Amino acid sequence: MIAGSKQTRMLNELLQACRTNLPSVNEDAMQKAFKLSMEAHKNHRRDSGEPYFYHPYAVAMIVVKEIALDDISVISALLHDVVEDTDFSLKFIEKEFGTEVAEIVDGVTKISGVFKGHEISQAENYRKMLLSMVKDLRVILVKFADRMHNMRTLEFVRADKQRRIAKETLEIYAPFANRFGLGRVKWELEDLSFKYLNKEAYNEIAKKLQDKRKEREQYIAKFIAPLAEKLDKHGLEYNIAGRAKHIYSIYKKMIKLNTSFDKIFDLLAVRIILEGNDANECFYVLGVINQIYKPIPDRFKDYISIPKKNNYQSIHNTVIGQQGKLVEVQIRTRKMHEIAEKGVAAHWRYKENFQKNDKELEEWVNWIRDVFENANKNEATKEIMASFKLNLYQDEIYVFTPKGDLKRLPAGSTPVDFAFDIHTNVGYHCIGAKVNGKIVPLSTMLHSGDQVEIITSKNQHPNKNWQQFVVTHKAKAQVRKHLNREEERLVEAGREIWERKLKKYKLSFNHDDVQRLLNKLKFDNPAQFFKNISQDKLNVDDILNPPEVEAKEEDNEMEFTTFADIARTNIGGVEIDGDYKGFEVNYAKCCSPIPGDPIIGYVTIGEGIKIHRKDCKNLIRMSENGSERLVRAGWPKRKDSLFVAGIKIRGEDTPGLLKEISNSITNFQNTNIKAINITASDSMFDGTVTVFVKDIAHLGQLIERLKKNKKIYSVERFDSETA
Ligand code: MN
Repeated sequence: MIAGSKQTRMLNELLQACRTNLPSVNEDAMQKAFKLSMEAHKNHRRDSGEPYFYHPYAVAMIVVKEIALDDISVISALLHDVVEDTDFSLKFIEKEFGTEVAEIVDGVTKISGVFKGHEISQAENYRKMLLSMVKDLRVILVKFADRMHNMRTLEFVRADKQRRIAKETLEIYAPFANRFGLGRVKWELEDLSFKYLNKEAYNEIAKKLQDKRKEREQYIAKFIAPLAEKLDKHGLEYNIAGRAKHIYSIYKKMIKLNTSFDKIFDLLAVRIILEGNDANECFYVLGVINQIYKPIPDRFKDYISIPKKNNYQSIHNTVIGQQGKLVEVQIRTRKMHEIAEKGVAAHWRYKENFQKNDKELEEWVNWIRDVFENANKNEATKEIMASFKLNLYQDEIYVFTPKGDLKRLPAGSTPVDFAFDIHTNVGYHCIGAKVNGKIVPLSTMLHSGDQVEIITSKNQHPNKNWQQFVVTHKAKAQVRKHLNREEERLVEAGREIWERKLKKYKLSFNHDDVQRLLNKLKFDNPAQFFKNISQDKLNVDDILNPPEVEAKEEDNEMEFTTFADIARTNIGGVEIDGDYKGFEVNYAKCCSPIPGDPIIGYVTIGEGIKIHRKDCKNLIRMSENGSERLVRAGWPKRKDSLFVAGIKIRGEDTPGLLKEISNSITNFQNTNIKAINITASDSMFDGTVTVFVKDIAHLGQLIERLKKNKKIYSVERFDSETA
């Protein structure tokens, strides 16, 4: 626990920092976020042993002081680990703090998730992916602050973890920070990473810098003196100071120039910041310097007239100082300095002062556009300035294979596109997909950061529906190719059936006969006609030999028959009333009654009593002429008291699976099935089965039994209506 007095002090410090650094603060919300974060993390500790709350608090402080955005981002920083690490939900955050905060917290959580456990070999892709995932720039800025604090406290973490985090920071976060113009964040992240990745070199350079510090400071003071005198005379308001180079940049320079520390000449650096925010003064100061010290022309850079891509502005000028030493002088205004240090965040703060026709505004927007490759010019300008929401890389998404490999796909891609991207065969046989561990329909639209696993089956082939949702060229082409082949096969098969039936009925059709038939049946061409035959949409027998009222039923291999049979056998067959007791009983295939259905018997000639459902259309038609052939029939009453329970099953729709399911159920303690309802699409089936069970244990065992079938992906109970 954090002592009450300490809590108060921490809160006051935070509020004070907000008042000083932010344009406006919702103090109530800030206080509420502070309390919620402390409460949520009260049972957690950091690796250092201190209360976990110190972390989100420190991150919030970094956001206030070092990035200085707005109160929303500070509140989000306080709450950034709450949803991930504690029992508070995002919904709750949204209710308490609004959508913006909830979205930022959610974004920060997701970004962290994406980095976990993945190789960092594709930094550029990651960068793009992050941008495509993130709707609000503040997510990235809060994440930087989070990483900054984790890096500052990395000493408490296990050594192997230290290295991993440091590597990730150096390879991803630092370049990313630079891209956003967060100069100060970038160098600190680099130096901290370097410290853990190459401790020896870091310590050596740090020590040498320290050793020479006094000497350097004295030299700089001497260098500055004549300059300051002149600037004062001119009445300029400025800040001038020596500047130590960052350790990692010294190291990089040593490596690049293949030289030792002592030979790195620009360790001596001075920065002049003009408070007046007038760029012309920078050039005046440049003139003053060059009068006093001799400049080195080819080391002069004017980033004021031509800013860097990340909007960095400054004059870099190297001159020969006392004792012939080289000194790099940077000249910039206060505002340029803020932008160099805080990048995007500084712009955020300055945006209120921007005028529509402000040249800087325009350049800034140009830069954003350049970075983010946004398409529509005027729209983009307005959008970005309005909320800094990012709509980047909207035409690409980045998803992962189960092994963590990154795949780049066009936006709108589905698991089928993903499957074809992996391999033609995977696409060809994909039957289902798990996205982030959950089974989803194949038409599901994927999002950046999704992890996608494809379930394949030899029996599966591309189907027509896929054409409606696949996006990639490869998937489209392959699906079309398959459908064309399939079409040819269907036409051929239909033609064979047709010819076999002609033989059977001893008929012969010439070309004209066929054409007449096609016209009558409204088919444009024979291919279409044959296809309908092979797809069972047309019954050749009906065409060649019109049916009688009670047509002899085809031997129909429908799975439902099998299931119904099992169910009927299990319940012990039907009971027939009165005189017909003991007659042969058959079940009508037109309505396939199952135990539980209201039924009635129909006395046939030669086939005993046929059991129909009471609402069977055939039965109703047949009994129109009179009811004397109808007999009362019913299912036997259940002996034990059973109750009805529902089971939801999802799996691969293979031939015989329904039979397997009903067998597993009915063979287990003679369980009776009340109803079964299956829909299949994309070769996946979705089914609900209601069964009579003795008790929960019975049901549980049944579910376990079904789960053992490899073709079944999920089995769960659902509440069914009572019996
Ligand atoms: Mn954190």
